[in-house]
Amino acid sequence: MTTLILHSPQSENHLMPPGHPEQVARYAAVQAGLKGLDLIHRNAPLADDADILRAHPARYLARVRAAVPAAGWAQLDADTYLSPGSVTAALHAVGGACAAVDAVLAGEARNAFLAARPPGHHAESETAMGFCIFGTVAIAALRALHQHNLARVAIVDFDVHHGNGTQDLLWHEPRALFCSSHQMPLYPGTGSPSEKGAHGQILNVPLSEATGSGQMREAYERLIFPRIAAWKPDLILISAGFDAHADDPLAGLEWQTEDYAWLTRRICDLADSLCAGRVVSCLEGGYDLPALTASVAAHVGVLQERGR
Ligand SMILES: [Zn+2]
Repeated sequence: MTTLILHSPQSENHLMPPGHPEQVARYAAVQAGLKGLDLIHRNAPLADDADILRAHPARYLARVRAAVPAAGWAQLDADTYLSPGSVTAALHAVGGACAAVDAVLAGEARNAFLAARPPGHHAESETAMGFCIFGTVAIAALRALHQHNLARVAIVDFDVHHGNGTQDLLWHEPRALFCSSHQMPLYPGTGSPSEKGAHGQILNVPLSEATGSGQMREAYERLIFPRIAAWKPDLILISAGFDAHADDPLAGLEWQTEDYAWLTRRICDLADSLCAGRVVSCLEGGYDLPALTASVAAHVGVLQERGR
């Protein structure tokens, strides 16, 4: 047993206009964070349409495919663009997350990390937004529930932004617990504790600007970890955004690199006691390249240590 890394080289064909924070160089920064770790490596396959269609209607998938430009960019919302390679990249990100779920549930790896762009947690049922096209982590959760017949899954989203897309896609799914910590107020504006899901299975934990490790750890220990423990999931998925880091230019939380190691360790503790250590982590945000490299190294370093 070990840690599986799903790489998506197609990430480098998902190009953003100059100056866009979700830049192609993020992929190399993530790869730099994985260097030197002893892991199993695979390339992320293309997603099956059937997996996408559990979360998004066929008309949305058709609309996104039709929007792909022959050259340059097509704009889907204020800050979400498609280059000629973007939809293929997004489909490999989803395929990688689904392959990670399959491998971990088959016992081929104890845990897994998806190194792929674009991110996914802002994509709603029929709305691309916030650099996201398809709801990668929600789609992976739905595959675990529908294809593998798991009784319950839990998702932890520690990206600094609220995972409004994951929340939207899983709002009516009674078997998926979605826990999100995020700075508030901040984009996309959702994520109030009053948003609880159709079955009370969504837990939103807003954090105030300029707060750091202490408040984060207290919130997780008091609210999120007990909720996951009570849920007794068969698999824990992570929306691993690293933009709550103090160096990140898009937000104002003050987390340190070591906080990502701490969070990962605590999530693995829960997974060990609840679901044989099964964790599937998917890259979301993180826009300061050196902080992204260091945070990925901290996060995946713990996954590796715990995957042995
Ligand atoms: Zn983010």
